[in-house]
Amino acid sequence: MLNFTIGPVMCSEEVRAVGGEQVPYFRTPEFSAVMLENEKFILKYAKAPKGSKAIFMTNSSTGSMEATVMNCFTKSDKVLVIDGGSFGHRFAELCEIHDIPHETLTLNHGQKLKQERLYEYDAKSFTGLLVNIDETSTGVLYDAEMIGEFCRKNHLFYVCDCVSSFLADPFDMAHCGADVMITGSQKVLACPPGISVIVLAPRAVERVKQAKVKSMYFNLADSLKNMERGQTPFTPAVGILRQIHARLLEIEKNGGADEEVARVAAQANDFRNKIKDLPFELISESPANGVTPLRPIHADAYKVFEILKDEYGIWICPNGGDMKNSVFRVGHIGNLTHEDNTTLVNALKDMEKRGLLQRANND
Ligand SMILES: *Cc1c(COP(=O)(O)O)cnc(C)c1O
Repeated sequence: MLNFTIGPVMCSEEVRAVGGEQVPYFRTPEFSAVMLENEKFILKYAKAPKGSKAIFMTNSSTGSMEATVMNCFTKSDKVLVIDGGSFGHRFAELCEIHDIPHETLTLNHGQKLKQERLYEYDAKSFTGLLVNIDETSTGVLYDAEMIGEFCRKNHLFYVCDCVSSFLADPFDMAHCGADVMITGSQKVLACPPGISVIVLAPRAVERVKQAKVKSMYFNLADSLKNMERGQTPFTPAVGILRQIHARLLEIEKNGGADEEVARVAAQANDFRNKIKDLPFELISESPANGVTPLRPIHADAYKVFEILKDEYGIWICPNGGDMKNSVFRVGHIGNLTHEDNTTLVNALKDMEKRGLLQRANND
């Protein structure tokens, strides 16, 4: 299998080997030590400010988006949601479900967020801002620093969904002033899905401790209390947390977060250079490193995905919703090499030769 989707992605041999081991009992000092070391690395790689905490949630990252909305905001907030695609839209839906007053700043698919546009919402009595730093559905990277400055000026509680951008694009939590950073196990952490991480800066830790959240499983104050001793309130995905540990040690051995970001960037650049002659159009105005969103000029995007899967054994990432037939995405995260890019590009060139990237006769 050759997998260029944006999660789950290809795991390294080491991470896969840990996945093959028996899953140990977890209320032990040994497992606590693994958890605390995981926290230490995550805080370091997020460049989180002193006093920050990490919580390891056993749920997909949408669960952590929901937990964040539930624990950090109330009916007396007024939240600005950056909605440039399906993940931004998800934050708006979560605010709707949990009765958090909100407004959306809607962007067209592929459009970047310009400063002028954001400052239309300046001094409008907002209290928080929700953004997906890489809006993975369109591969648009937003400027976390520029948004952070806006949040600082307006005293907004600043939530960054970095699920697909953590370790793929530069991110400095302390510098941009983010209060919350969310990521997940199946993106650049390149582990199986099942764990999501919420990093809370000191202001967020205080807010979560005061929250009166109507949920048992999504009570982050409870998670924080347990995490002081490297534990979770309920049985976590122990096996995946051990795989994350192996992966974090691997990243550390390879030079740390900046090195990993550079590796993903190089993987993306290599691919983008190799497809220059193919009949595809890059749809993102400010492409994130983790993913290249492409519109086939003549062909149906979903067909390209199906043919690559069924005839070449290669997985790219189809889009959902109204972009299903127009856009597909190629991921650059996980255990992929430049040779893997060549394999994919050769398959695409072969499809072109076979006339499969041309307009169908009856179109
Ligand atoms: C993948 C992703 C998520 C979470 O997806 P889950 O399927 O819930 O793990 C959230 N936000 C962004 C930006 C993502 O890329």
